[in-house]
Formats: sequence, structure tokens, C-alpha cells
Amino acid sequence: MSRPYRVHVKSFGCQMNVYDSHRMADTLAPAGYAETPEAAGADLVILNTCHIREKAADKVYSEIGRVRVMKEEAAAQGRRMVIAVAGCVAQAEGEEIIRRAAAVDLVVGSQNYHRLPDLLARVQAGEQVVDTEFPVDDKFDALAAPRTDAIRERGISAFVTVQEGCDKFCTFCVVPYTRGAEVSRPVGKIVAEVEHLAEAGVREVTLIGQNVNAYHGQDADGRPATLGKLLRRLSDVPGIVRLRYMTSHPRDMADDLIAAHGDLPALMPYVHLPVQSGSDRVLAAMNRRHTRQEYLDVIARLRKSRIDLAFTSDFIVGFPDETEDDFRATLTLVEEVGFATAYSFIYSPRPGTPAAEMDGQVPPQEKSERLQRLQAVITRQWRAFNAQSIGRTIDVLLEKPGKLSGQLVGRTPYLQTVQMMAPRLLIGSVVPVMITEVGTNTLFGALAEQPIAPEFAAAGA
Ligand code: SF4
Repeated sequence: MSRPYRVHVKSFGCQMNVYDSHRMADTLAPAGYAETPEAAGADLVILNTCHIREKAADKVYSEIGRVRVMKEEAAAQGRRMVIAVAGCVAQAEGEEIIRRAAAVDLVVGSQNYHRLPDLLARVQAGEQVVDTEFPVDDKFDALAAPRTDAIRERGISAFVTVQEGCDKFCTFCVVPYTRGAEVSRPVGKIVAEVEHLAEAGVREVTLIGQNVNAYHGQDADGRPATLGKLLRRLSDVPGIVRLRYMTSHPRDMADDLIAAHGDLPALMPYVHLPVQSGSDRVLAAMNRRHTRQEYLDVIARLRKSRIDLAFTSDFIVGFPDETEDDFRATLTLVEEVGFATAYSFIYSPRPGTPAAEMDGQVPPQEKSERLQRLQAVITRQWRAFNAQSIGRTIDVLLEKPGKLSGQLVGRTPYLQTVQMMAPRLLIGSVVPVMITEVGTNTLFGALAEQPIAPEFAAAGA
């Protein structure tokens, strides 16, 4: 072939899928695949799917239909396009995908994508391949390290998966079935990956996992390390100025993780801590394994550790048998905590989960009405949280050029986007910014003083 193969990876769903998509591209690079932002014209299209939302599988099939048209057009031009389905829908549906969509050449589960080069060789030889077994080998060991140019293209913030899977079995959730049991990567391998990212200009790392604070990866002494310990180790990596982690479970918020928030300036004071409901009755039916008061106690302990901590959360409204009183308990919990923002969803049954079989499904209209009431409170809190930034000087990590000439875009410790005029060489620096205005989705500000240029030149700087 006179040109490299072109691979387009389309990512759906959470940050873990975004990370997986990057790692798929990294793993295919040594096999001669270059990433392309467009599906049309690609030799390989990978749909990295998500199973968390309602009708996820239906959406994947309609996406396959769209790509199939491109595959037919490519064939008419004498080119072969391979279609692969990866991620959680691939894991859950397996063979069924190829039965329903013959245009698909390869189905690869979330634990198997390190085998992509071999699987694609089998596809090139004429096979239709399904690989969704949970393997005994560690996929992270087999993945190629990201190339420096790919890291730079992806920007100064990176995700790193440190943990996968979940043993909690909340009754509404498919993750324990699609991602399997909790597995943590060893400390040394995570540190090496973060050092590699930092050398290429990454300044901010978000550690991700379905249950990230259940992390228990092996340390150099052979014993399991906690997430708090891992964060302490990563805060020493030269070049890394900001650390974050998500998504946490309230039960796994251990003392040393809470203490890390007080001790590590690099650990951002912004914690995503899903609670789902404020009613003990609903929390028990969800099998969340904590009460409302236990959740509030965790919040209080975190706030004691670092006073400027802000919280976000996830809520499900209209869980089976949720009464008006249960829902009001959710509203009072939101008022009591005061979130920076929160994500709220209407409950919808996921096939194969216990909650899907529960009696007392709440009528759709009631669910919508409750969602609107909850979102009104969350939106009020979100606006108030943003408004309190006006007139304050806040540290902003400058990420990239803005739309206007001379403008840069960065983020506060609370992930608020900030736009300001600043020299491009400051990309990758943390600078003090006086916030002057709050827009709908962004803050506006001005450099508070002339900062020092970054020690590590970042992508595009
Ligand atoms: S803890 Fe999170 S990932 Fe695990 S089952 Fe519950 S909702 Fe799903």
C-alpha cells in the first residue's frame, strides 16, 4: 500500500471510552494506521460504543447503518472499508451484532482491544471476527505507548485509566456486566504512563475508573496501594500541575484519599461524587450500600480536609417505586450540599439489571415533571457557583487558543472554561486570572499579573 491505512475511531459515552479510543489508535499506529477525523475515506472505522443510556444498542445499529453506506461507496470505488464495533455494546451484544448487521467485520469487547492488530489481520484474511471473552492477559501490558505527536495533538489534559470494572452491582447499572469485576493497574505502570505524558507536554491528568476510588493496584513492595497513595506518588511527577480523579463511590472515600485533598496542592478541589437519590428507601432499592447521612458525612469530612472543595453529583429520578416524599428527600439533599453542578437523568430500565424487573415503575410524565423540578434547583446552584467567581482571582490552566486572535482558553480548578487575552507561549501554564464576567457556559477574565513562562513547552506552544 502506497499510503498509510486510515483509521477513524468514533467514541460514544464516558471518558473511559475516550481514553480507550486513544489507546486503540496508539495500538494501531505501529501497524501502519494513521488517525483521520472523518469516517468517509477511512480504511477502518471503529465505533467505540456506550451502553449506559437508554436504547444504546438501537443507536449503535443506526450508526452502523450510516457507516455501511460509506462502506458501499468505498467498495464502488474499489476500496475496502472495515467496520469494527468496540466498547460496552460490543461486550454486551457480541455475536448478535454480526447477525443483525452483516456489514460489521469485527466485534471487539472492552477488555480485548489490545488484540486489534491480530484481529484485523484475521479480518483482512476474510473472517468475520467476534472477540468479547474476558481475557486472562492484561490489555494494558499489550498496548503500545502513545506517540509524542499523538499526545500533543490531544492537548495538555489527559485521561489515564487506573481501574476498570465494578463489584458494587447497583440495581440499575450494566457496568458490572459489561466491564466485569474491579481490576486495578499497578502503581509503577501508571507512574510510567504519566511520566511519558508529562514529557510530551501534558500538564493535567485525570485518573479514571468506573469505581476509581476502589483503586487497589500493586505497589513496588507487592502490596495494594490506595488511590490516595497513588495520587501522592503522581504529584511528584515533574510537569504535572493538576490531578483529578473520577468516578468515585461514596463508600470508597477512604481517610487517606480525603487527607490527600488537604495535603496535595496539585489535587484539584473538585470532586464528582454520585449519590443518585436523597432517600434511604430508594438508596437501599438501588443497592447503593450507603445512606443519605453517610453521604453527607463524607461530604463534611472532605470539606474539613480542604475548605474550597466543590462537588458535583449524579441523580436518577423516577427509580421504581420512588414516591413524592422520596423525591423531596433528593431535593433537600441537593439544597443541603449545594453542588457546583450535577447531572440528572430519568430512570430507564436496562435489560438484564434487577431494577428493570422491579414493580412500581413510575409513569413517564411524573418522571419528567420530577426531573424538571430537580434540574431547576441544580441550575440555580450552578449559576450561583459561577456568579461567585466574579471579581475573584483564580488559577487558570491555559489549554489552547480561543476563537479570537490573541485569545486563550483555559480552565479553573472547577473545570469552568475561561476566555482571556494572553500570549500563546503561556499555553500549558497556570496563571492567575481576574474573573470579570460570567457568560452562559464560560467565564471571561484578564491576566492578573504577568506570569512566568512554563518550564515545559506544551502542545502547539
Ligand atoms: S458503583 Fe457505579 S459502576 Fe458500579 S454498579 Fe453502581 S453505578 Fe454502576
